[in-house]
Amino acid sequence: MALIVQKYGGTSVADPERMRRVARHVADARAAGDDLVVVVSAMGKATDNLIELARQVSADPPGREMDMLLTTGERISMSLLCMALHDAGVEAVSFTGSQVGIITDTSHTRAKILEVRGDRVREALAAGKVAVVAGFQGVSVDREITTLGRGGSDTTAVALAAAFRADACEIYTDVTGVFSADPRLVPQARKLAWLQFDEMLEMAGAGSKVLALRAVEFARNHQVPIHVRSSFTWEPGTWVSDERPAGAMGKDGAMEEPVISGVVHDASESKVTVQSVPDRPGVSAAIFEPLAAGGVNVDMIVQNTSTAGTTDVSFTCPTADLARAERIVRDVAASIGAGAVTHDDGIAKISLVGAGMKSSPGIAARMFRVLADHGVNIEMISTSTIRISVVVAAPMLETAVRALHTAFDLDSGSDYSAPLPERK
Ligand code: ASP
Ligand code: MG
Repeated sequence: MALIVQKYGGTSVADPERMRRVARHVADARAAGDDLVVVVSAMGKATDNLIELARQVSADPPGREMDMLLTTGERISMSLLCMALHDAGVEAVSFTGSQVGIITDTSHTRAKILEVRGDRVREALAAGKVAVVAGFQGVSVDREITTLGRGGSDTTAVALAAAFRADACEIYTDVTGVFSADPRLVPQARKLAWLQFDEMLEMAGAGSKVLALRAVEFARNHQVPIHVRSSFTWEPGTWVSDERPAGAMGKDGAMEEPVISGVVHDASESKVTVQSVPDRPGVSAAIFEPLAAGGVNVDMIVQNTSTAGTTDVSFTCPTADLARAERIVRDVAASIGAGAVTHDDGIAKISLVGAGMKSSPGIAARMFRVLADHGVNIEMISTSTIRISVVVAAPMLETAVRALHTAFDLDSGSDYSAPLPERK
């Protein structure tokens, strides 16, 4: 008998019919003999709607009250699911994050989990019940209700799986797994049977939205195998784990792993350039310290070699932070005697990710050749041991991603045909 943590995202519990389907699936898993902890997200767009409500009553809602408000979304899901489970003949009991002792730090709206006590879940399981836990929330060391940041239910699920040493953490969503590229852009994208944690981390960091980055980090640190799968088709999805699980073939059933696992894109960032920055110690710190203090999430940074004692510095950051970033950098530029500050919000980042890169030289050169052959100009480059990212002009995104997908032998041979969820 296995202990499985199942997490259902917002689209999986979006309406009563979907809720009943989830209840049936839970009932089947229970009938097969598994012990289950189920984590739920808020229904559909519930969290977005609550945030919008808050905005309508306040220009700057206090974090504590925001968390009180947002946690209600998951509370609705957990109680409704337990009712549906009751009708399906399954004994289940719902708990808030605070009831199960998910202890966090005190940063409202983006709290980090410090400890999972889990006594009430243990009691429920011992009594033969399914424990249904509200995702995305906890209680702080100051006894205040907290939330874990958008998409935080994934983190709740992985944290519970780690705490109870579950055999697997199943993340149910509206796609059938992790793909070698976004099927909306690349119809030939293939579903990956298995990915290593580091690859999934790089993919999440490069813009893949399937799993929340922090949840993957948590899973890697605690070695919790994740199975990402669809609550619409229920077919086997993608395993994320360091060891290949028995159920998953290679990254495509092949003996030899492909060097590249996926082509990930991100069109949500913009580029800021500070011109004529004096070339002397301390200027980079002078630019990036206030950005960090201002909570701007800087991604790529490029500094040119200096000519005549000055250099240009460019960086990318989420477009949502662009106005703030520019304001901060303009002040700095004036104080350090740099030139104009410009921005470009028409960019896209494309990343090749693959653990096989470590042992295969020449991937970057091949990537740049493919882009050149398709007339795509590269504006910025950054790399890790298993990732190469480039920034290109946004209108070239589709051409570039498709060309790379084909050139690195990722095309599946048939077009993706299942209905695709709305773009997040
Ligand atoms: N409901 C929360 C959100 O939309 C948490 C989650 O879905 O994981 O961000
Ligand atoms: Mg959600």
